[in-house]
Amino acid sequence: MRITILTGAGISAESGIPTFRDADGLWAGHRIDDVCTPIAWWKNPDKVNRFYDERRAHLDTVEPNAAHRALARLEQHPGIDLTVITQNVDDLHERAGTRNLNHIHGELRSALCSKCRTHTPWDGPLLNSPKNCGRCGRDTLRPDVVFFGERPYRMTEAETAVINSDLFVSIGTSGAVYPAAGFVTIASGGAMTLELNLQPSEGSDSFDESRFGKATELVPAWVDEIIAEASAMLPPHA
Ligand code: NAD
Repeated sequence: MRITILTGAGISAESGIPTFRDADGLWAGHRIDDVCTPIAWWKNPDKVNRFYDERRAHLDTVEPNAAHRALARLEQHPGIDLTVITQNVDDLHERAGTRNLNHIHGELRSALCSKCRTHTPWDGPLLNSPKNCGRCGRDTLRPDVVFFGERPYRMTEAETAVINSDLFVSIGTSGAVYPAAGFVTIASGGAMTLELNLQPSEGSDSFDESRFGKATELVPAWVDEIIAEASAMLPPHA
């Protein structure tokens, strides 16, 4: 069974990382236009660096939750070919053990050369640090996150996974950010579609099935169901 999962900020909320759009969210009280656009970066790079430096440092204080761990468990099943596409820039999926993972909106623990586009693993602050690119040598490193208005990473791979799935599942995303919000429409051509979210997303009507509740409860329960289904389809002694 080929399963493609799209995750959003909601899967990490119970680990202690605020979402963007929930009432208590707004990602530490910042306006998206001030910290997450190419113009914000051009006007005030120190402000943008400070914002993402704080988010990066916060990663050291949080842990993957039961939903991240359940998806890592699902990937281990011999009857399941799983791709996880995440809009999140945190590293909780990989720390939980997910391997086939596509960070379409970038990663906090990486820096991007704004000239030659080289990605460099990055753990400390960018503000007030030497920001020389290891490849082209210029002082041009920035946070490796996809700003609003920029093209997400590895979209061809992401869309291919969505098109080839038997089941597409969206977890903890508001469905407000395109192109990821359009994956359900692409998937509907040949796959069953399921939404797991705290409340109906903007595209909720497009899904074949929706379940509402906390990710740490919904996701492990759904993974148990799918593993039971996939185990029943395996040949004897597999
Ligand atoms: P969003 O903030 O727009 O929406 C979050 C969704 O998660 C909402 O629909 C909400 O109902 C749901 N949710 C909240 N708590 C939940 C829980 N406990 N269980 C299940 N669902 C829950 O986030 P988005 O749709 O991912 O899009 C916003 C953009 O913000 C993304 O592009 C992402 O890059 C960025 N972002 C990332 C992080 C992160 O890396 N953890 C955090 C905030 C924002």
